[in-house]
Amino acid sequence: MKFPIYLDYNATAPTDPRVVEVMIPYFTQTYGNAASRNHQFGWEAEQAVEKARDLLGETIGGGGREIVFTSGATESNNLAILGVADFYKEKGRHIITSPIEHKAVIDPCQALEQRGYDVTFLDVDDDGCISLEQLEKSIRPDTILVSLMAGNNEIGTLNPLEEIGKITRKHGVLFHTDATQAVGKIPLDVEQMNIDLLSFTAHKMYGPKGVGALYVRRKRPRVRLSPIMFGGGHERGMRSGTLNVPGIVGFAKALELCRDEMESEAERQIALRERLHQRLQAELDHIKLNGHPAQRLPNNLNVSFGYVEGESLIMGISDIAVSSGSACTSASLEPSYVLRALGVGDDLAHSSIRFGVGRFTTEEEIDYTADKMIFAVKRLRDMSPLYEMVQEGIDLSTVNWTSH
Ligand SMILES: *Cc1c(COP(=O)(O)O)cnc(C)c1O
Repeated sequence: MKFPIYLDYNATAPTDPRVVEVMIPYFTQTYGNAASRNHQFGWEAEQAVEKARDLLGETIGGGGREIVFTSGATESNNLAILGVADFYKEKGRHIITSPIEHKAVIDPCQALEQRGYDVTFLDVDDDGCISLEQLEKSIRPDTILVSLMAGNNEIGTLNPLEEIGKITRKHGVLFHTDATQAVGKIPLDVEQMNIDLLSFTAHKMYGPKGVGALYVRRKRPRVRLSPIMFGGGHERGMRSGTLNVPGIVGFAKALELCRDEMESEAERQIALRERLHQRLQAELDHIKLNGHPAQRLPNNLNVSFGYVEGESLIMGISDIAVSSGSACTSASLEPSYVLRALGVGDDLAHSSIRFGVGRFTTEEEIDYTADKMIFAVKRLRDMSPLYEMVQEGIDLSTVNWTSH
């Protein structure tokens, strides 16, 4: 085994060597600007970009002409939300989303609120699921966009995209989905699901960092958007800037590999995730799964450990790379806004760990991680007076903590 063990695949993934291999010639040999029309260097670069565009578009059920290349899913989300909001501002200024979206969706929505738009944040239940009924009831004559993610990056919960798409299409409202965690991992089809805009990025699917795409539907209906950056008019005016040719070539190769290996990999990763969860459940009490038990990404496990302190736990498993439920900002230990929206208490949110398994995760690594987690949690609980009281049968909610 190689240490540290990487179990943070929901944050990013290593670039697959097979992807790196196809990218290399585009740095040193076919290095033309895809917008150069006057010579072979440009034509070859353009050809590679168009081939990648077709593969990306067709793999999600659309066409190459519906793909706009960006610098990543953050930019794709911003372009979708700000771009649609501006283009359709005379039609309406109401947007529907959820409180557990990625910040790259929440923040542009809040920026729009500052500019006079109205944003509805749907409720989510304990598992992070929205209500389709509430979604439909929230649609108004001035609603222009519904933005709901495919799979949640923290807790793994999947949204019912096909059902959402039926509702948005019925009411003539555009449907954007941040599918960054889902593309290449679960089947997705923009036609079948009535998706009008879809954000994704290469680095979560074993491609390079810094390249992403936005699918923008061209017919039934034709989606329009205002650019958020201005320049050379690349990408049909929607996103100016010289294209990242090696990145785009790698992005397509990465998706091709994910597509071809999707079924077997999903099965393998679910088995690894379940193996870890079952070990933890068998040997530790007071643990809680966060996110939906079945409707979740194949590679995500998020667990809260009662009566341990999150930061101490992370330190106790320092040779394993995972994410904790508290975003450690410089000044404060703020519990995850996603877990908070699910109603997870601050103590459990602080002691939550996100395990993200991936293509290069082995059973041996999972077993090591389970052993180490169990050891670390038990050791911390041995030092915890609260845990001791609970073991003695004391109901902590009835305790009067004042000392005088
Ligand atoms: C990682 C992630 C993003 C951001 O993607 P970048 O390409 O890093 O900008 C957006 N949304 C979700 C759901 C993500 O997991």
